[in-house]
Amino acid sequence: MIEARTLTRTFPGGTVALEGIELRIPEGQFVSLVGPSGCGKSTLLSLLAGLDTPSSGSVVGVERAGVVFQEAALYPWKTVLQNVMFGLELSGLPKAECQAKSEAALRTVHLARFAKAYPHELSGGMRQRAAIARALVLEPNALFLDEPFGALDAQTRSLLQTELLTLWERTQLSVVFVTHSLEEAIALSDRVILMASRPGRIIADVLIDAPRPRE
Ligand code: ADP
Ligand code: ADP
Repeated sequence: MIEARTLTRTFPGGTVALEGIELRIPEGQFVSLVGPSGCGKSTLLSLLAGLDTPSSGSVVGVERAGVVFQEAALYPWKTVLQNVMFGLELSGLPKAECQAKSEAALRTVHLARFAKAYPHELSGGMRQRAAIARALVLEPNALFLDEPFGALDAQTRSLLQTELLTLWERTQLSVVFVTHSLEEAIALSDRVILMASRPGRIIADVLIDAPRPRE
């Protein structure tokens, strides 16, 4: 269970990006955060993932966060495999083990054949798959995705959506997914949380009962 307790985040200058967020995410749940630009979705995701510190309140239950953003932000001078391995190598694991785990993560996202390619040789969808592999290789207990498919064309987006669902069903990871598309949120999630701004807060929290798209 991931639990956010009375989270507030105020930025220097006084913007109250979030106020009084209470949230419990059961293990294995796929939750989407939806709302207009500026309502605090990214800020909430960052706090849950431990990338940012709340002004008050706390987050518990995230041992290791896997994070994916709209831009894959791969190192251009490293191959796909080296990009995925990099975070593991920092953890001090022997290189052979890093490589084996990274190759397995690349197989999971159907990118094994491109292990030796460089990011500029990949399509946008493939770069996002590499970013997902880079998150998975750290063996997270929860996956945090901030508009991961926002920059992709419609066809690639729907392909990656179904791949993500397959991955989620297989791994049973908790997923927090930020999107400004209510349609995408409903198609993918167990639960949709609607947010509003000034201050950023939760205005609705809905369980979804609908069939999901399949590969
Ligand atoms: P969303 O992801 O829903 O678009 P954000 O979480 O990015 O919203 O932003 C919420 C509010 O906090 C906005 O008003 C935004 O301008 C503000 N904000 C976000 N990050 C910062 C920052 N680093 N410094 C100052 N204000 C920020
Ligand atoms: P999104 O809507 O996807 O969250 P934004 O354009 O709101 O994207 O924010 C992009 C980046 O800029 C984020 O890292 C956010 O923290 C930062 N940011 C947003 N608003 C501000 C702000 N008013 N001052 C400083 N940084 C900001």
